[in-house]
Amino acid sequence: MKASVGSNPTSSAMGSNPAPREPAELVDAMRAALEQARDALNHDDVPIGAVVLHEGKVIAARHNERENYQDPTAHAEVLALRDAAEHLGRWRLDDCTLVVTLEPCVMCAGALVNSRISHLVFGAADPKGGATGSLYNVSADPRLNHNFTVTHGVLATECAQLLTDFFAKHR
Ligand SMILES: [Zn+2]
Repeated sequence: MKASVGSNPTSSAMGSNPAPREPAELVDAMRAALEQARDALNHDDVPIGAVVLHEGKVIAARHNERENYQDPTAHAEVLALRDAAEHLGRWRLDDCTLVVTLEPCVMCAGALVNSRISHLVFGAADPKGGATGSLYNVSADPRLNHNFTVTHGVLATECAQLLTDFFAKHR
């Protein structure tokens, strides 16, 4: 269920570090992201949700609002990063984890680099647009000034099913 393709392998035995390392904590966070994803359906947006964890707590929870705002940048990850930065009063999120139901696109992977996030967790892979392992791997590109750890496949089936159901209805 987990594999690290970023700079640092995660460890569940990192002493007093309160960062979310335990799979159970990540599963709980993904459930919160899934709840967000379902909220996107209220305005007919593609159901993708994201939460940001800081010291084991959810400090931001958003969903895709591209249709709702008619904003091409209103992806769940970007909105969650903005809320997290506002909450902490700083743009640098190097002690945070972003948990999202679908593998981030190029824009969101770039936003993660720019936020200096330490850890990305995603559910379903996106072979058509994913930029943290599928089409590109922005998380581990040595040419960039920041890399981050990636854990993938958390509740992947549920995350993918939500999207499959949505596209079946909207095709
Ligand atoms: Zn995106």
